[in-house]
Amino acid sequence: MKTVGLLGGMSWESTVTYYQNINETVKEKLGGLHSAKILMYSVDFDEIEKLQASGNWEQSAQILADAACRLEKAGADFIVICTNTMHKVASQIQSHINIPILHIADATADELTKANIKTVALLGTKYTMTQDFYKNKISKRNINVLIPDDKDIETINHVIYDELCRGIISDASRKEYVRIISSLQQKGAQGVILGCTEIGLLISQKDLPIPVFDTTYIHARKAALQLLN
Ligand code: GLU
Repeated sequence: MKTVGLLGGMSWESTVTYYQNINETVKEKLGGLHSAKILMYSVDFDEIEKLQASGNWEQSAQILADAACRLEKAGADFIVICTNTMHKVASQIQSHINIPILHIADATADELTKANIKTVALLGTKYTMTQDFYKNKISKRNINVLIPDDKDIETINHVIYDELCRGIISDASRKEYVRIISSLQQKGAQGVILGCTEIGLLISQKDLPIPVFDTTYIHARKAALQLLN
């Protein structure tokens, strides 16, 4: 078995899910007492969030590149960045290490292609929804990406940073997310990307009539399969 290096803590609420999902897949595949070989560097998310908010992506890239180097030195065979948003600086991180990064948007695009989705709704932080670093990876596969309107982008983003990343799960916010996804479905979305690693803590397939692509689950499963490859 290989060893995965997790860049976690963004937020830790969803890193817990990564740890659990990776181990569950290894258990499913190998059975018995098998579990995943995992190294983790978990950052202080307050520091990262302040750099995001002030637009200082360079500094956040340096923090994550330093952490990735430590994971490489400790023996990781590949890196998993446990957040969609910080893939904005994935190529800067990659330039500091010799082991590959398993990109969350590539893993998600693979699943969308398998499911033959042509138009998809994307929910995530305002950075993920409005900037190109993530959407381009999906649209390169000839998949049309729909995002909410400005007001709904604010709602989605607020729930991520002020609720989900703080461990607050609210029925009212779940209803808002379902409303926003329904309106994107009416605009042609055949599926929805939960493009923030905490959204799966709030909504899941049972809440929605269209196929759900939960990036945390997809990314963690792919990482586990790569461990065994
Ligand atoms: N975990 C979230 C994501 O997947 C947001 C936290 C962050 O800004 O990294 O984008």
